[in-house]
Amino acid sequence: MTNIEGAGVRRSLVALTGVVALGLAGCSSGKPASFGEGDVAGLPVTHFESGLKPNAPEPDLDVTNAGDDEADRIAIATIADVEDYWSDALPSGFDMPFEPVKSLLSYDSEGPNQENGCGDTEKNANAFYCSVDDSVAWDRGVLLPTMMDKFGPLSVVTVLAHEFGHAVQYRLGDKAGITRNTPTIVKEQQADCFAGGYYRWVAEGKSKYFAVSTSDGLNSALSSLFLVRDSAGTSATDRSAHGTGFDRIYAFQIGFERGPKECAGMTMDNIQPRLTERPFDAGDRDGDITIDREAITALQASLDQAFQRAGVKAPEIVDNGGSCASGPATPPATYCASDNTVSIDLAALSELGQPVDQEGEFSGSSRGGHGDFAAFSEVASRYAIGIQKGVGASLDNANAGLRTACLVGAWAAATTHLQGGDQLRISAGDLDEAISDLLRPDSLVAADVNGTSAASGFNRVEAMRTGYLEGSQPCSTQYG
Ligand SMILES: [Zn+2]
Repeated sequence: MTNIEGAGVRRSLVALTGVVALGLAGCSSGKPASFGEGDVAGLPVTHFESGLKPNAPEPDLDVTNAGDDEADRIAIATIADVEDYWSDALPSGFDMPFEPVKSLLSYDSEGPNQENGCGDTEKNANAFYCSVDDSVAWDRGVLLPTMMDKFGPLSVVTVLAHEFGHAVQYRLGDKAGITRNTPTIVKEQQADCFAGGYYRWVAEGKSKYFAVSTSDGLNSALSSLFLVRDSAGTSATDRSAHGTGFDRIYAFQIGFERGPKECAGMTMDNIQPRLTERPFDAGDRDGDITIDREAITALQASLDQAFQRAGVKAPEIVDNGGSCASGPATPPATYCASDNTVSIDLAALSELGQPVDQEGEFSGSSRGGHGDFAAFSEVASRYAIGIQKGVGASLDNANAGLRTACLVGAWAAATTHLQGGDQLRISAGDLDEAISDLLRPDSLVAADVNGTSAASGFNRVEAMRTGYLEGSQPCSTQYG
């Protein structure tokens, strides 16, 4: 986030607030929610081990230079599986036959160079579709094992389903609106979306090769996609732009929810309004401020202003360790109902709020900072619990967690409108810091008053995005 100094027009956060009061008050008699259940885009929330099925068939594919390691086993099964998916989805959705890609190449970016229509594989820790020779290639030496280490086998599936999405896009051509001038970001959004469409098919149990639960399984797919986001401050019109984590996960979710036809319909015109990728504003530097007392004072003011028209007494943020004598503690921030405070552990939040080290995340050397906005979001979520308590909403179920994430998103959006004054304003990269936090197992952003998060990361991210893009009204109607 950024602190803007100096005079200027202060726009109030009116849009967010009156609606919070009305909406939540109106829904307190809504249907009771049972914790952790509900659905994920119409599918049940499932819990089982995700990955290659023990009884998966042996893929019948020619792969140049294939190894016999785990990375290649998963990679080759993925190609066979996405080919199964598209051999049905192309004829049924687009009225065209499916053609497999002409060649497949496995390589080790630290090993000898391999022939490829798109240049050298040496030192290229990547996976890609090459339209010159209609091939899909992947680095089994560095890229795939690194991702598998962090997010398990589904990270390989996610990356290759995306790359194969480019092969499909090439085949669709006109039907996906693809021309020579199509901006990179559109092609990338479509490919993420196609990957989402494929994942739904797997989650529905239609794959011979993979099983994916809609809780941890899908969480690992989203985390993998998040890992390969652009760095904060990239412009969406950059020639190599792939999108923020927010944008990439959104595209994936559209594919998962609405299928590949929706993906093929993505154009610059219709994605532009929702893309969040943008350069840092002048003076933002890296957009991170230190989480100290001063920052918390600014956060209190920002939240008070955002929620003032909820018509309830604002919770007070106090730095006394993140605990609560009379109720459950959810450190590093706890909503304490007995005295209407948000108790924080400033030192722990400051640790969490260290700048994100994107390269280090990949190599494993990151010290674990999630950025200032992650820390702010954790505190904002507990504050939002206090507001919900004030209006009589339920606080201890999955809907309360998702409603909280939605309100944090609405607050984040409200801060973008600030034009001046000594106030917090969201900066490039902040939304990804919130997502980075949301995808942590012990994140508070989509947690209920007891600190229990909704099981599905898919739903957690969607809830925050809903608030961010649509304001607070849907927070109470969708998560009543
Ligand atoms: Zn791509």
